[in-house]
Amino acid sequence: MKVAVRRLPSGFRYRLSGEASDRVYSRRDLCGTPLKLAGESWEVRLPRLFRGIHPDLHALAVYLALRPVLGRRLVLPFGVSAACAEAFARSFGVELPKVDGGLAPRREPERDAPGLLYSGGFDSSAATLLLPQSTAVCHCDRIDRSREAGLFVPDIPFGNQSARREHQCRKVRRLGRRLCRVWDDHEFLYRPYPVWHANDWMSWFSMIYLADSLGLRYIETGHVLEDMCHTGFRYDAMRSWPLCAEALGRENLCDAEPGALDRTIDLGEFRLGIFGLRKARSMAGLSTVATSRIVALGPYHGDASPCDKPFADASFVGRRGTAPSANYCAECPRCFHKRMLVDIALGRETRADTVSDYLEFPFIREELRKEFLDWHHIWVYIFQRVRCRHPLIREFQKQAQRQRDLGFLEKWHPAARGAIPAPYRASVEKNIRRYAQTMSPAEIEVFGKHAVAPLRTPAALGPRA
Ligand SMILES: [Zn+2]
Repeated sequence: MKVAVRRLPSGFRYRLSGEASDRVYSRRDLCGTPLKLAGESWEVRLPRLFRGIHPDLHALAVYLALRPVLGRRLVLPFGVSAACAEAFARSFGVELPKVDGGLAPRREPERDAPGLLYSGGFDSSAATLLLPQSTAVCHCDRIDRSREAGLFVPDIPFGNQSARREHQCRKVRRLGRRLCRVWDDHEFLYRPYPVWHANDWMSWFSMIYLADSLGLRYIETGHVLEDMCHTGFRYDAMRSWPLCAEALGRENLCDAEPGALDRTIDLGEFRLGIFGLRKARSMAGLSTVATSRIVALGPYHGDASPCDKPFADASFVGRRGTAPSANYCAECPRCFHKRMLVDIALGRETRADTVSDYLEFPFIREELRKEFLDWHHIWVYIFQRVRCRHPLIREFQKQAQRQRDLGFLEKWHPAARGAIPAPYRASVEKNIRRYAQTMSPAEIEVFGKHAVAPLRTPAALGPRA
């Protein structure tokens, strides 16, 4: 695939032309749902602080935007370093034919500047409170093209969703944090848009473009305990739900000697040594129960948004007369459980009619029929703690309270200490202690060995499919 790049006063415009090896439809090795390449250009808008981008990082940015359909060659109008071309071939199986023999790979800056990948969700909002004051909070936003003729794509949310992002960015600035935003419209390249692509890779976009301008050394990914321990989504053959902390102490490259950093770019782990960056996971010892508490009890007062779906849509407002919160959509299990986590942290009762509204969505009822739910341990914790008069929640509560108490999920797991870069480890630990206790040796022991029991489907939900 050949890409032309044009420098704009406030960013870049990219235009592509295909080659024989490019896939017009999605790579089935990456996702099961077919998707189509529907556009031929995209744009990136950058803030005024942008000073330039190392060609190797620029190649990575273009690669990420095109990854769902890219074949074996990426022809760019600029050369990359020989080491970068070699890493692309080895890690992605992609040839970058234009190599600049005189170009050195990006050097790792000497200062310890961290940048945080900020989405406006609970985990990254909590991170803005725990990371050092010098952290650049980097946010990747959409260029709203929904009003341009023929460009509206129904599965890309706009409207009140962008008002919510504005609100959250203002809030981060009011907390005295340096917020850096990048806008792009790569989503219009695809129909339908592959959500996995956004979740897994595109959040890096802001950081890739701004790394040189901000002199970044560390990229704070916002990964929490569930991401590290792979205790998130259920799968059909699942027979147990262990809480496993082994991964917390493992794979800690944030303090490695520069020469010891892996020079490959494995997107699964996203090793960044070749780009002079280090991946850091200062939040790794905190469960999403703990981050929700930090957002509820700290200066955000619960004001964060768990998902990108539009909220308060007309079909929901007034159905039962409950006012939908501006922070939650009315239809996804994640917003449903975050809402209850915040209520629990604030000691507030969860309204029965709020629960009824969520249950009107067949998808949510389907979810709750499973013996292991997505984020099962979080649900069991919720059912153990929530105050709610809805009969279904009460039924789940009876079962959950017979299980081992999961209150230790509110606390910090100290095995994740090594995932915080040494230069600011002490300050992050001090900040964590302001909001969360540290798990005791006995709790750590339980965490390492405990398997959370399944839940029986309450009769009111009907039989399992
Ligand atoms: Zn949602």
